[in-house]
Amino acid sequence: MAGYDQTLRPFLWRAEKLYPDREIVARTHEGMVRTTYAGYADDVRRLAGALEAAGVGRGDRVGTVCWNHDRHFETYFAAPNMGAQLHTINPLLPDKQIQYIVEDAADTVVFVDPSLAEKLASAYDPDAFGSVERIVVVGSSVPDLDLPGAVDYESFVAGRDADYEWPELPGDQPAGMCYTSGTTGRPKGVEYTQQMLWSHTMAECTEMGLGLDSSDVVMPVVPMFHVNAWGLPFATTAVGGKHVYPGPSPDPSDLARLIEAEGVTVTAGVPTVWLGLLEYIEDNDVDLSALDRIVIGGAAAPESVIRQFDDLGVEVLHAWGMTETAPIGTVGHLKPDLEDTDYDAQVEKREKQGLVVPGLEFKVVDDDGEETPWDGEAFGELLIRGPWVTDGYHGRPEANESDFEGSWLRTGDIVTVDRDGYVEIVDRADDVIKSGGEWISSQELENVIMAHDEVSEAAVVGVPHEKWGERPVAFVVAAEGADRDRLVEEVLAMLDEEYPDWWLPDEVEFVDAIPKTATGKFSKKDIREEHADPSLVENSAPERRESGD
Ligand code: ADP
Repeated sequence: MAGYDQTLRPFLWRAEKLYPDREIVARTHEGMVRTTYAGYADDVRRLAGALEAAGVGRGDRVGTVCWNHDRHFETYFAAPNMGAQLHTINPLLPDKQIQYIVEDAADTVVFVDPSLAEKLASAYDPDAFGSVERIVVVGSSVPDLDLPGAVDYESFVAGRDADYEWPELPGDQPAGMCYTSGTTGRPKGVEYTQQMLWSHTMAECTEMGLGLDSSDVVMPVVPMFHVNAWGLPFATTAVGGKHVYPGPSPDPSDLARLIEAEGVTVTAGVPTVWLGLLEYIEDNDVDLSALDRIVIGGAAAPESVIRQFDDLGVEVLHAWGMTETAPIGTVGHLKPDLEDTDYDAQVEKREKQGLVVPGLEFKVVDDDGEETPWDGEAFGELLIRGPWVTDGYHGRPEANESDFEGSWLRTGDIVTVDRDGYVEIVDRADDVIKSGGEWISSQELENVIMAHDEVSEAAVVGVPHEKWGERPVAFVVAAEGADRDRLVEEVLAMLDEEYPDWWLPDEVEFVDAIPKTATGKFSKKDIREEHADPSLVENSAPERRESGD
């Protein structure tokens, strides 16, 4: 059928036409920046013209290594609307993973923030970056670093007019890409087509999604390299809301100031961010009167956070999702008949990951492949499918084999579903650690530790941590006679060479043996039960994160 496909283009068109004066505000390296949809749409067209002049064509990938700001947001519409693919890169990853990702995606142009240029230069490898013809530094000058082909943003767009004509695109045109590194092994690329981003946007805007409308002032604190800041830049544009971008490494005082000054009504991020804000609010006067709701996801929203924000008159919407689901899958809205139950019962529901959003289907399957009953107790793996759920990884047939069952995505999350249909995550099938909303691969760390000649065995597990959710602790069986203090130093130095410091275990504990399963594998469950005491990491995690998540 000749017709009209589901693409991102009409969202920008509508915002520009209906809300030309609505603002897009960003905290940047150069101070606060303000524009409007009218100005933004011109900038986006100018950028598309510059990308085209730089040789970016239909199906090419445009990488970004940027925090949350207006220029990053420009790439969100410029690349997809011209038929290219926006590939957001997580700067918190180890260099090796960034190399793998850039090579696998074959990015042609990469945008980088001045404050992340050093990280990109450290990851830069001429072979892995062979496809990269231009690096655009989102600032007024190019830092003196080894970044071949680097040009500053203004020079890149100089001389371009805002008259770029968007092409007609098919719904199956790849528009976005994001790598997930949750599981062990190489990161896996998830591609988002125009249609996937369109349908995710529409679902996110609905009441049973995040209920956005044009009166909303939306501040995504979740990084724009995490599944398109959970789709909020697209959804906010679709409804004509005001955008507020908190820029590089916002701390709680920056967030509080932006909420107050810009009248933020909706914000979103991982639990660590909100624990920080709550702590700040305890000691400082913060006017939260504009703030209506906070979307918490990426890791479980703690009950105390839900209750404290309720006391402050701000609703917590607990949401679950994954890179593969673009990301929103479930949201913890209360069903109408639960509105009348007592407060504690309501909080109990809202602590769960929530109700599947309209448009998706899910099922829960036990070890025997049987669907589990919705009784709140029987558990199994969550499988999900729908218009914005990916049906395969980029160039990874082996992962497609293991992670999909027909049209169903196997999420790796072990869940229960109660009689009301609320999904609750009770465990993860994969052996990974999530700290402050970012993955740490325990197996990668173990491999390095076990390469030390005086280590016989090592297992790294996530230990519950109040602020970060989990922190890694290494349990090590040392060779006889080893000098333990020296061993710890050497092991940490080995890890430090390959991984960012927030990956390093907070503690290295010596044990006589690592508990094993019947098949001889490390039993992480037993290690956690026997050894993983939260007091091990209570005071240990330094302020090592660069990002505000
Ligand atoms: P994101 O960038 O949103 O963290 P990932 O694909 O990296 O996406 O991680 C997805 C995984 O994070 C899920 O499979 C689940 O294990 C975990 N997760 C996401 N949201 C929640 C939540 N609300 N509660 C508990 N775990 C969550």
